[in-house]
Amino acid sequence: MAEKLILTRKDWQRMRRHVSRRLPLEACGLLAGKNGRVVSTIGIHNEERSPVRFRMEPRAQWRAFQRMEAAGLELVGIYHSHPNGPDRPSPTDITEAMYPVAQIIWYRADGKWRGGGFRIEGRKVTEISLEFIQPE
Ligand SMILES: [Zn+2]
Repeated sequence: MAEKLILTRKDWQRMRRHVSRRLPLEACGLLAGKNGRVVSTIGIHNEERSPVRFRMEPRAQWRAFQRMEAAGLELVGIYHSHPNGPDRPSPTDITEAMYPVAQIIWYRADGKWRGGGFRIEGRKVTEISLEFIQPE
C-alpha cells in the first residue's frame, strides 16, 4: 500500500497554509481520498498544543472519519508538521504510527516549508513519491 501519493498543488498548498498558520505548534490533519489519490485535506486540531508533539483531537478525528465514509472515501494519508525538524518521521512518529498510509511530514528549511512523503509500517520507514496532478 501507498508507494506513492497522488495529489494536486492545491491540496499541497492547503496543507502548507494550515501548518504555517499553526506555528510555533505542530499541526496535523488527514487526507481523504481513494486509491492513493487525495480528494480532500482535513486539518484536525492538535490536542497537545505542542511544538514537538501532536495528537489529533479524537472527536474531530472521529467526525472526519464519519464524513469520509459517508462520501465513499478512505484515509489515504496523514500529515503533520515539525516546526523545528526533523525532515522525516521522528522516533515517536514511528512508535505511534497506527495506519499504513502515506505520511506527509512538513518541516522548514531556509525559512521555507517543505514536505516529504513516507510510509511507516512495522516501525520501518520508507520514502514514498508524491505525484502532482492537475485538478479535474
Ligand atoms: Zn512528527
